[in-house]
Parts: sequence; structure tokens; C-alpha cells
Amino acid sequence: LTENSVIEKGQPQRSVVTTCAYCGVGCSFRAEMQGEDLVRMVPHIDGKANHGHSCVKGRFAIGYATHKDRITTPMIRRKTSDPWTVVSWDEAIAYTAGEFKRIQSAYGRDAIGGITSSRCTNEETWLVQKLVRAAFGNNNVDTCARVCHSPTGYGLKATLGESAGTQDFDSVMQADVIFVIGANPTDGHPVFASQMKRRLRQGAKLIIADPRSIDLVRSPHVEADHLLKLRPGTNVALLNAMAHVVVDEGLVDEAFVAQRCEPDAFARWKAFVADPRHSPEASAAETGVPAEQVRHAARLFATGGNAAIYYGLGVTEHSQGSTAVMAIANLAMATGNIGRRGVGVNPLRGQNNVQGSCDMGSFPHELPGYRHVSDVGVRGSFEQDWGVTLLAEPGLRIPNMFEAALDGEFKGLYIEGEDIGQSDPNTQHVTAALGAMECVVVQDLFLNETAKFAHVFLPGSTFLEKDGTFTNAERRISRVRRVMQPKSGYADWEITQLLSNALGYPMHYTHPSEIMDEIARLTPTFAGVSYARLDELGSIQWPCNAEAPDGTPTMHVDEFVRGKGRFMLTEYVPTTEKVNAKFPLILTTGRILSQYNVGAQTRRTPNTVWHSEDRLEIHPHDAEQRGIGEGDWVGIASRAGETVLRAQISERMQPGVVYTTFHFPFSGANVITTENSDWATNCPEYKVTAVEITRVSQP
Ligand code: SF4
Repeated sequence: LTENSVIEKGQPQRSVVTTCAYCGVGCSFRAEMQGEDLVRMVPHIDGKANHGHSCVKGRFAIGYATHKDRITTPMIRRKTSDPWTVVSWDEAIAYTAGEFKRIQSAYGRDAIGGITSSRCTNEETWLVQKLVRAAFGNNNVDTCARVCHSPTGYGLKATLGESAGTQDFDSVMQADVIFVIGANPTDGHPVFASQMKRRLRQGAKLIIADPRSIDLVRSPHVEADHLLKLRPGTNVALLNAMAHVVVDEGLVDEAFVAQRCEPDAFARWKAFVADPRHSPEASAAETGVPAEQVRHAARLFATGGNAAIYYGLGVTEHSQGSTAVMAIANLAMATGNIGRRGVGVNPLRGQNNVQGSCDMGSFPHELPGYRHVSDVGVRGSFEQDWGVTLLAEPGLRIPNMFEAALDGEFKGLYIEGEDIGQSDPNTQHVTAALGAMECVVVQDLFLNETAKFAHVFLPGSTFLEKDGTFTNAERRISRVRRVMQPKSGYADWEITQLLSNALGYPMHYTHPSEIMDEIARLTPTFAGVSYARLDELGSIQWPCNAEAPDGTPTMHVDEFVRGKGRFMLTEYVPTTEKVNAKFPLILTTGRILSQYNVGAQTRRTPNTVWHSEDRLEIHPHDAEQRGIGEGDWVGIASRAGETVLRAQISERMQPGVVYTTFHFPFSGANVITTENSDWATNCPEYKVTAVEITRVSQP
């Protein structure tokens, strides 16, 4: 931990409280400084999401901020085959604005758009969607939440009325039954996983539904009957089977449902799940989970006391991601497990600000606060405040932008903090679309995979170099505080403002607190949020307004945000990504504790000591059949493409299923994932790819 490490450099001269920029737990830290040098990151004892705890990433993986790969000067090139030319900020901004204007004049208003990232602050995301709507004049704005938790937004809004988790993390300490489905908290949300384990040690019961034996499986408090090792892509069938047991065995909380939910929708749902085709016995052929296990798990969930559901991308990143989210909400409502502490529907958001990037309206169909662009009254309030006319029609989602680019209709893209060239599925399709554009602008820390297709590079800033806020998975808004000057001269929000001004739509913010004031003015759920209140309270869980001036740890207490909860019919539709003789295995993907997403930050820290490559986990039976041994190189072929990884033989897998992470660009995990996506939101089906694997010689 010495090479590249910035930790333990000596005694600090000052410290600044800020928020981790990695996962959706949103741990609070004291950044201890010597002048402009970061000495160490110390988990903050008053942090309400972490209570003084941290994981290895937030504590140690900060060397990237001063890594030699940082680009700190703007660069342009007219063709992607040309070398980069370092230019002044004035020249870079003028060139970008000139290109975007030229493209709109040649190809039309809708030929450009913007993508923001869940790594950005709320204030930065607000400005990107404002830039697109007010300066570009269209709704072509999207966020990387498109490829992770967009089904959460859709599914929870449809059933409960709000696109967010229902509880605070501390609520788990009142849970009697914890149901983890499609999530691996130990690796993805380590600090919350520790809290969950504390509750398990106190005696809470655990149900796990996952194709792979995640770390929590080793918990002494989980019984074999409550480990539902389902086949990838069958979440909806499993959840419907659990609901079938709840209805069939008279375990519905009738009083809760009668008081809190729409009666007609409930009656329809009850008849739907009661159908024998949803029984555990009938579903077993699809899920691979023995019927008795499903029955035991459903009984425990319905009768074991407070039951809380925690889910992650193993639920959302499917062709039925939105359906599965609605099935989870149905199960919580049917058993009365919502609206008080210890229960609820809790999406474990992957990145630090997934919740915030969605809250801030970086969707082509929604203005901030999840309000549709066609809503005349909402649009009017923004038009009056911003002094522009806004479009009532939704713009392009990220995959639509790619399709339009390949059709020659979409030519310019502003990308802030997102490496779509590595993170989005079917890399060949993404890079072909980027290659068809005339002005790709990447605003980031490093020359990433997307930057290979960029014409303008605008050097971005790390979380240490700017003020702002992040919103974690429990809707907690926390301050990000500048501890050092931006290495490029500008924080990201200032760059967006420069571009907007150059395009002719003036922005005159002098500090992100003014952007938060605008957010509060125009977004009812943020009406009571300000930097002064955040300083006073430490952090705030939205909704925060006149009715809840200190915020809202538990939602839907007396009634659902939409009034009555709405049961949705969740028909199971098998994925079209089928195994066959040519592609007999299913590949599914995930994360590892010491790395973070595409690895841009963690690969540039001493973390590589612990985990230096993505590997392919293979069940011993599948490996033996193919003559593959531990550490062998393995070629992986799918309908989308081919790549090569080293083998890790693992009993954690089930036969017929292989698994990898996607933290390293050269492993090419997304070269083989397909373009299949969620029917409602286009969230990619990363979790199910039919593949074949063969032993190969070292590439
Ligand atoms: Fe950062 Fe998440 Fe680790 Fe907390 S648990 S330190 S938020 S990566």
C-alpha cells in the first residue's frame, strides 16, 4: 500500500468533511490535508450512512486523484485519427459550441444530446439536463442510470408512486427477515453489508435469491431452505411463485391491503398469482429452484415479522427488470411489509449518485422530481424560471442515440463522467455509433475508452476538487466539499456553465449552493434543502419540505405517495437470449469489493495489488467437461462477440452458469454482452448472455 498511495503522509493541518465518491452507501469522511495534499481519508463518526465505518475503496482508493494519467488541459482534434492538440479553455469551449451549432444547423435541433453520470454531483447533473433542455433545445439527455437502475424508477413509481427506496439503512436493525435478491452487498455495498450482518448476528433470518453463492451465503444464520439458487433471467418467475404461496396459503395481510391498496388492482393480482402456472412446482422448471424451498422462503417472508427486501442489479439488468421490481413491490404490499421501520423495498444503488442523477431529471422523458415532460403545469414552472420554451415530447434514450447515430441523424454528444465505450453493452455497437458522430465531447479525468472516439476532451475534476451534493441509496443528500483546487482550473459544473454561455443560453452561478437553491425552488421533494440546512443537519433524506422539514427516513407511512398502492400484473416472459448447442452456458456479471465499475479510479490506486484482472468463474463440472484448469486462458464467444479471460474454477457457480466482473477494459466483458434490454426502460440485460467457452493458449 505504499506505491502511489497518498495515505499516512504525516499529521494533518486541517480536515474537511465530505462524501465518498464510490458506491451508493454514501459514507461520510474527513479528508485530512496538509496544504493542498491529501494526507488520509478518515471515516466520519457522525456520518449517518456509515457511523464511522468505511470500506477499502473509500478509505484507500484515492490515489487516482493525483495519478499521472490525469489530463488537466483541454484538447481538441478534428478527426479521431489526428493527434490531440492542447488548447486553451476559451478555444476548447468555442470549438465545442461552434461544432454543436454547426451540427444543429446542418442536421436539425435533435441531432445533439448529452449524457451525465452517477459519479457527478446533483448540481452538475442539474446543469447538464438544463444545458440540454435550455441551450440545446431538446430533451436528448440521459444518465448511466439507464444501464443500471432505470427499472427501479419505473417499477417503484408504478406501484408505490415514488422512484426511490422506502427506508434508511439503519432500518435494517429492526428487520426480522432480510430478503436479498440479485445483490451482493459484501462486494457492492460493503459498509451496509456489515450493518446487515450485525442484524443477522442478532438473530434476523436471511433469504437469498441469486444464481451464484454470494458471500452472505456463508452466514451462519441462513438455512439451506432459504438459499434460492435460481437460473439467471428467472427472477419474475421466482417472485410470482413466492406470491402464489402467500395467496394460496392465506398469508396476505388483508387488513393492510384493504386499507392501503387499490382494491380492484389487488383483486386482479390475487387471481393472477393464484393461477396454477405460477405455483412453485410449475415454476421450478424455469427457475431451477425446488418448490419446497420456495414455499419455505415465502412462508418465512410472510410470517417471520418485519421483512425487508434488498435488491440490486441482479434484479434490474434483465429484459424483465421493471417487471421484477414491480413483483418485489407487490410482495411487500401483499404481506404488509412497507411503511414502517424494519421493512420496505430497498434498491441498493450501485454508484454514489445514481439516486441523485435520476432525481435531477437527467432522463429524456422526465423533468427533475420524476415529472413527465408532457405535464403542462410542471413544464410551465421551469419555463418561467429558465426563460425558455421546453419541449413536451420525450427525447432520445442512450440506445436511441446510438441507433440515430448509425442512421446518420445524431451527430453530436456531450458526455460528462461516463465511459460508455467500456460500460455499455455490445461494445462494437457503441463504438460504431460513436464513430459515426461528428463531435463527441468527453469531460472526464482520464483518456478513457470513449475518449478514443472523441473530438474534444474537457478535463474534469474529482470529488476532492469541487463543492456539491450526492444522494445515496437511502435518499440521503450529503455535502461534497472542495478540499483542493481543480487541477484543470475548473470544476465540472463551471465547464458546463461555460459551454452553455458559449451556446447563447446564459448561466451565472457563482457557487453550487445557488444551483441547489434553484433545485429546491423547482422540485417539491427538495423544497426544504439548502446548503445551510445540510450544514445544520449533517445530511437530509428527501422528501424534505414544509411537511417534513428535517427529511423523511421512512416513506409511505400513512399512505403511499401515489395514494393507494397499486398491484401490477407481472407476467413472466422468458428472455429471448436462449442457450443452445452453440452457446450452451449463461454468462452473468457482477462486481468485486476492491474495484469499482469500469475501474477508471480503482485501477489507478494500490487496489491492483489485491485484484488485477477480471476472471471467469466456472463450475468444476463445466470446466472439467472442457478440459479447463485453474488459471487457464479461456475464449468466450457469444452472439455479440468474443473475448478471452483467465479461468477461476469455483463451487460458487451452478453448472451451466459462468460469471465475470467488468473492471478492466482489456477483458472486454461488454464485447460479449448483447443489446437485449428491459421492455420498459431499455436497461441492458447484462445478466444473461448465452456463451460457449473453450481453453485457448495465452493471447
Ligand atoms: Fe465508499 Fe461505498 Fe465503501 Fe462507503 S461502502 S467507503 S460509500 S465505497
